[in-house]
This record gives sequence, C-alpha cells and structure tokens, in this order.
Amino acid sequence: MTARAGRAPGPEVDTLIIGAGLSGLVAARRLIAAGLTVRVLDKGRSVGGRLATRRMAGAVVDHGAQFFTVRSESLAAQVDDWTSRDLVRVWCNGFDGEDGHPRYIGTAGMNSLAKDLATGVDVRAPAMAVATRFDDLGHWEVTTDDGTVHRSRCLLSTAPVPQSFSLVFESVDGLPREVFDADYDRTLGLLVVLDGPSALAPPGGMQQPLPGVAFVADNALKGISPVPALTLHADPAWSLERWDADPDGVESELHGLAEPFIGSAGIVEAQVKRWRFATPRAPWSERCWIDEPTRLVLGGDAFAGPRFEGAWESGIAAAEAVVTLCR
Ligand SMILES: Cc1cc2nc3c(=O)[nH]c(=O)nc-3n(C[C@H](O)[C@H](O)[C@H](O)COP(=O)(O)OP(=O)(O)OC[C@H]3O[C@@H](n4cnc5c(N)ncnc54)[C@H](O)[C@@H]3O)c2cc1C
Repeated sequence: MTARAGRAPGPEVDTLIIGAGLSGLVAARRLIAAGLTVRVLDKGRSVGGRLATRRMAGAVVDHGAQFFTVRSESLAAQVDDWTSRDLVRVWCNGFDGEDGHPRYIGTAGMNSLAKDLATGVDVRAPAMAVATRFDDLGHWEVTTDDGTVHRSRCLLSTAPVPQSFSLVFESVDGLPREVFDADYDRTLGLLVVLDGPSALAPPGGMQQPLPGVAFVADNALKGISPVPALTLHADPAWSLERWDADPDGVESELHGLAEPFIGSAGIVEAQVKRWRFATPRAPWSERCWIDEPTRLVLGGDAFAGPRFEGAWESGIAAAEAVVTLCR
C-alpha cells in the first residue's frame, strides 16, 4: 500500500493529493474510480492523520477520533460495505443514555478504516510536502522533504489550512484570508494502559464527564483492545492553557484528570499525545475551496465540519471539483 519516500516519483499524475487523512483518501478513491491517476503524499509514517490508533503494552488505543456518526447516503453506503467486511460496527447509541443515533467505530481501531481506503492507492509516506510551484506550462510541482519533485495537472491539499496556505499562497491569487486565519483548537490527551478494569461503566465512553475533560474512553469496553486502556482528551480551553507548559507538569496534571476513571487499576504504561490541529474552530461555508485558474482544490474537515463526517463530505466534494478541473 505505502511506498517509502525517496523513491523515484514516477510519471506525472492527473492529481497530487497532499494529506492521506480521511478527506485525502476518500478523494483519491473517487478520482481513481473516475479514471484519473492519483498520488497521495503524507508527512506521517502511515496513512490516517487524525484517524489514529496506537498499539502499546498489549493494548489497542484510538487516540484521535473516537467514533463517528452517519447522515449522508454516501457514507451510509461505505459503512454498509465496511460492516459487511467486519471493519466497522456500532459502539453504542449514545453515552449519556440512548439517543437513537449509532456511534460507529473501526473494529480494529479507527486507523484501520484509513488503511482500508488506502488499499490500491499510490500513497507515499512519509513524504512531507515542503514546497509547491505552479509552473509556466500550467502544471503543479510538489517537492517533498527528501528532495523528490512530483508533478501533476491538478493539486488537492487536505492538510490543515494554515499548512495548505503556506504551501500554495505564492502561486494562487485571491485565497480567502478568513479561512486561512481561522485557528484550530488543540487537544492534549493521555493514553493509559491498565492492569485491571477501569472505573468506566459500559459502553465505556463519557462526553465532558468532568471540568477539563472533553472525552474519556475505555478501549477494552469499546471492544478494540484486548486489555483495559483509557484514552482521555482534555478540552480545548484546558489544552490551550497548558500547551507551552513544562511537559512533566502537563503529564502529571493529565494523570490527575484521568484518576477518577482509572479507579483502583494500576498503570502499565502511559503516553501523552498532543494534537496541534485537532478541531477547526470556524469551518468554511463551502465543502472545498476551488481555484480554477491553477486547478487547485483545498479540502478537509475545515471545509465541511470538524468531524469524520465533515472530512468525508469534503473529500467527496473535492474529488468532484478535481474531476471537473481535469476535464
Ligand atoms: C483528539 C481528536 C478527537 C476526535 N474525535 C472525533 C470523534 O470522536 N468523532 C469524529 O467524527 N471526529 C473526531 N475528530 C475529528 C476527525 O478526526 C477529523 O475531523 C478527521 O479525521 C479529519 O480528516 P482530514 O482528512 O480532514 O484531516 P487529517 O486527518 O488531519 O489529515 C490531514 C493529513 O495531512 C497530512 N499533512 C499535513 N501537512 C502535510 C504536508 N506538508 N505534507 C504531507 N502531508 C501533510 C497530515 O499528516 C494528515 O495525515 C477528532 C479529532 C481529534 C484530533
């Protein structure tokens, strides 16, 4: 599925996609289905972006997105396919009582859904885009951090918008400043593998259970981990206040937040996780942003809503835009 950066870039493609998160991968699949050639570049070691699952001390821990909901027909069709292959199942229908809306999870963790979408897609990872150029012949060049230059007719960037902006602003007139000035909320998180059951009750997830905590989950109760392991996400205000603080102090404060959920279990291993671009604060009103003269499209959850569903919808809209631009 993935190829190491540093390989020859291969022939020019119709579309280069920066970002192998959900948006970029959904777009890639749609473009391939439309008969276009695609290459996806991601700075991470593997695909998924904020669909992130970590293996630690025998546990399986989702440390980015915890679950997703489904409203659109296109996502419902994908969920039917994933369900039929046992890649997705319903975790619960609400955390504070049932509200009738299923919360879906990847049965092997959320990252497995990104890996499934990446199957058969030319993904280069790790390959960080460090510069782009729209050349005199009307083609895009994207240089990655190993010095490789990739070429394409269209460019789709699904990186967080400040990063997309810094990559393309020299080539494109009229980028709307409002969207690029929009900041993202940050998230500080703690992953804790336990030697016994946590203090959470089924279904094993709680939204805003205490001041400072946005979400806490027991990955064993959720059904993805063979051993008890907590994911705790601090809320945006708590995270921002401590973002630049001493890391040891932050870790100790995160342990303090997690204590009521750990109960009497012992800690086998703990890790702090920092998400600088966790949640776009003010999503753009369109599902993607299109610059026709340069055949550039920007997508990602900053355009269609700060969730799995938003990233999905933006990826689809971005692919439709690229198909039109590539005609
Ligand atoms: C802590 C946390 C909890 C969340 N919980 C939920 C939840 O429970 N339910 C839900 O629906 N949503 C949740 N979300 C939101 C959800 O994860 C995102 O909306 C969605 O995954 C975003 O997908 P994306 O493709 O737009 O962006 P990303 O997943 O961020 O993908 C962008 C990709 O671009 C890559 N990239 C960036 N810069 C470059 C570069 N220069 N060169 C190459 N690659 C680059 C990154 O490595 C990344 O892989 C959560 C997010 C976080 C952080």
